[in-house]
Amino acid sequence: MTSPLDRQAPCPNCGAPMTFKFAGARAQVCQHCKFVVARTDLGLAAQGRMADLIEIPTPLRVGVTGYWGADPFCVEGRVQMDRAGAPGAPWQEILLSFPAKGTSAWVAYAQGRWYATSEQALPPGGVPPLEYLRPGGTVDLGPHGHWVVAEVGQRRVVSGEGELSSVPAPGAITRYADISAAGGRFGTIDYGDGRAPPELYLGQQFDPAALKLESGLPLEAPEAKVTAVDCPNCGGNLPLLSQQSERVVCQYCGTASDLSAGKLSALGPSPRPPIQPYLPIGSQGLLRGCQVVVVGFLIRSCVVEGERYDWREYLLFGGERVGYQWLIEQDGGWQHVVPIEVGEILDSGGSVIFRGGQYYFKEAPVTATVDYVLGEFYWKVEIGERVEATELEGPGGKVSREVAPTEVTYSFCSPLPAAELGQAFGIAAPPGATTGAGGFLGGCANIIGTIVVVIVICIVIALFIGGVGDGDGGYSGSGSSGSWGGK
Ligand SMILES: [Zn+2]
Ligand SMILES: [Zn+2]
Repeated sequence: MTSPLDRQAPCPNCGAPMTFKFAGARAQVCQHCKFVVARTDLGLAAQGRMADLIEIPTPLRVGVTGYWGADPFCVEGRVQMDRAGAPGAPWQEILLSFPAKGTSAWVAYAQGRWYATSEQALPPGGVPPLEYLRPGGTVDLGPHGHWVVAEVGQRRVVSGEGELSSVPAPGAITRYADISAAGGRFGTIDYGDGRAPPELYLGQQFDPAALKLESGLPLEAPEAKVTAVDCPNCGGNLPLLSQQSERVVCQYCGTASDLSAGKLSALGPSPRPPIQPYLPIGSQGLLRGCQVVVVGFLIRSCVVEGERYDWREYLLFGGERVGYQWLIEQDGGWQHVVPIEVGEILDSGGSVIFRGGQYYFKEAPVTATVDYVLGEFYWKVEIGERVEATELEGPGGKVSREVAPTEVTYSFCSPLPAAELGQAFGIAAPPGATTGAGGFLGGCANIIGTIVVVIVICIVIALFIGGVGDGDGGYSGSGSSGSWGGK
């Protein structure tokens, strides 16, 4: 038991007074020196220094109180993490305590959804080693049931504040698996650095309206303010439409950049797409009840029996609540694509069950490769990036399964008649196969598109006049450069 005396002690690193108010706290970040201070049997022990907090807005600040349903809660602490090997896109998890129940929960927000998890006892037989888990596979957690592995990866704690129910080691790379199950259930197996047994966190998505803050503020992710960044190569003014964007390919000069702390740092030139997007970056529409904006454009392809097939994909962003959707165009036919939570799918390989319907694959999986990119993306998209893609047909459309080395994603593709697409974006009905710039010119209705067309025409003229000049900043690799990623 903890006595009031146990809860107060000087920081073992800097001597500043520390008070543990939350009985379940196993660590606290010293306000004075930012060291993680762990509670051990032998007293307090300094673990390592946290970096400065990253500005990720949330109404759930340390000390905020409120009610979750009828249960009072208090915000005790938060940690900020990023993916090892892909820094620059940190997220945060917030620790709530429920004093009346003596419990706590971690709350996180990602791509329009709120999740809450709490630590659970490991199943009697433990959890399988991380090496045994593959994205899309299932994991048996004994009394906790069967879960689907959505992602395996490595992360590190960067920063944090307040009291914490676990003891993070700042900067240490730890391994984890995100798991998912039907009904919005979500969890993480935290394998740590391998020196201690894994920790299991299970929970689910929740409706933020269930939380009432004492301040009366709504629990909402702050809507992305449409800000703009300057292309580090051409200086072009690029609207930044989603706060979750990690990589931007300039629609004017084709320079790929990473986004970090509101600034772009150039990676290198990206090959220009052979056609312009039919829906220019920045196009807005009202699609099936959602206000969306086109933020990105990809051309992907696969090779089947020696023949190359390509298709065009438009990344749509519908604000923090709607998140991301896609439009896919192949041979003039359009599909509307909405992501599916991994746990909503029952996957037996050759077929899947989704919302009670069975979907079968008619063609063998293909390797889909990213060939061209424009716009902003919520992951570090690379030219040459490959996934194993399978389409499964069934009621109302197709379930698409894409397997990457560390992640599986599912989405639902439904046919989108050209007239509906035209109405959604306020443009003339799209032409058939968009195999050349001519189709795009007819539909080009906004100024960004016009500028792109002008630039493309200038390049074509430049090519005619004597090849692309060395001083042309960014264009010289056009059409042949490989990946810029991983640098
Ligand atoms: Zn200290
Ligand atoms: Zn540029």
